[in-house]
Amino acid sequence: MNTRSIGFRVVSWYAGWLCAVFVIFGAFIYWQLAHYLETSLGASLSRRANQIAELLTSAGGNVDAKTLATEINERYAPERSGRFIRVASGGALLYVSGKPLDASFDPAGVRLPPVPTPHEMLRNEMEPDWKPLLVETLVCQAGDRSFVIEVGASRAPIQTVLQQMMLPLALGLPAILVIAILGGYALVRRALTPVGVITRTAERISSHNLGERLPVPPTDDELQRLSEALNRMITRLNESFDYTRRFLADASHELRTPLTVIRGELENAVGAPGLPAATRDSIGSVLEEVDRLARIVEGLFALSRLDAGEAQTERVRFDLGELAMTTTEQMCLLAEDKGVSLSRAISRGVTVEGDRARLKQVVVNLLDNAIKYTPAGGTVTVAVCVTDGRAWMGVTDNGMGIPADALPHLFERFYRVDKARSREMGGAGLGLSIVKAICDAHDGKVRVESEPDRGSCFSVELPLAAARAETAEETTKASEGN
Ligand code: ADP
Repeated sequence: MNTRSIGFRVVSWYAGWLCAVFVIFGAFIYWQLAHYLETSLGASLSRRANQIAELLTSAGGNVDAKTLATEINERYAPERSGRFIRVASGGALLYVSGKPLDASFDPAGVRLPPVPTPHEMLRNEMEPDWKPLLVETLVCQAGDRSFVIEVGASRAPIQTVLQQMMLPLALGLPAILVIAILGGYALVRRALTPVGVITRTAERISSHNLGERLPVPPTDDELQRLSEALNRMITRLNESFDYTRRFLADASHELRTPLTVIRGELENAVGAPGLPAATRDSIGSVLEEVDRLARIVEGLFALSRLDAGEAQTERVRFDLGELAMTTTEQMCLLAEDKGVSLSRAISRGVTVEGDRARLKQVVVNLLDNAIKYTPAGGTVTVAVCVTDGRAWMGVTDNGMGIPADALPHLFERFYRVDKARSREMGGAGLGLSIVKAICDAHDGKVRVESEPDRGSCFSVELPLAAARAETAEETTKASEGN
């Protein structure tokens, strides 16, 4: 779980606040109810004490203990109602009620009120083996006698009510917490859905499809403004990419004609009779450099067109196996010159769809590299087949191989493993980037596996043309030596 994510933080804040509000609200209700019940019980005890006081005053204070006991027992039945009643006068006890039926307290054990006794007071009586008792004390004057009337009741019913109220509060808190977390999670997910859509679209946008734009949620909020700002940024990037692409295309295009002219002139000059040998050698090496320059310019021109989305100027269905076969045959001579044997393991009927000329360029570049970087006596194998429902082409050699640290950079423009060696062989480091650009444009992939001094395998994977996969017949041509 990512504790720093927006979702986690929003949900925990939301759940935390909801719980805090619930706890505060619950505590307030609990306190209010406890206060109300205590006040009501106090008021009821006070009423009862006043009724007994009225009884005493109406008799002018001339009440003997027996009559008082009969009156109180008949009127209030304290044992049955669970009440405590005690009446004293001049330090002598006139009446004490009996033990209540639920034995929640012992009337004989209730302490006497403080002396001097205030006119009216409410106090709590607690003993270890009792339920707490609330006692109202009232001092009244009847005739020439002063009476201390005490009426009490157990607080146990109040505590029972409060405990019963605590139960739903205690169960409600975890339930609210779960609802808050689930609800909060669902809300956050819903609120962040547009962010997910924007992120996925942004992931898809690269230098090849800068014309695409992020979806703009019509919410008139931060999210809408963010999408609009990012879209404006993509527009600026697109303009800048377009400018660079146009510059590269124009520059390489403009350089092609003068280079062709220079090469023509140099070829004429080198063939002129009576030219000193040293001058001929110099012109020869300049011609080599011009050839190299021309290849670089051609490579740049090809890349600029690929960047401009011209990788598939024509879109046809054709047999990749057949294309690989004819291209290999055309390059046999090059391999022969180098003393490298060329073998084939090519299935026919591997139909793909795309630009035939561009995909031929892929075969040429890979094969050219394999022959170039394999010493005489080595072998280069071209294979085509269908694997996992995709067209697969591999160019394998047992040449010098590529060090592991160079592999991740191999498809970068102008990247060469060994600059001096590659330059000697006429390479400029553009061949593999052209291969990658063409594969990308055909929804394909190019991969390399290589080990120094053991050889390399460059493989290209392309989607099969629709409804063709099942019918591809595997007519693998046996390895033929060259
Ligand atoms: P270059 O025109 O220099 O060959 P590439 O883009 O075709 O440029 O290749 C980039 C680098 O990858 C080359 O400089 C070379 O060192 C290495 N390379 C490509 N193919 C092979 C191969 N089959 N065997 C060994 N090294 C290779």
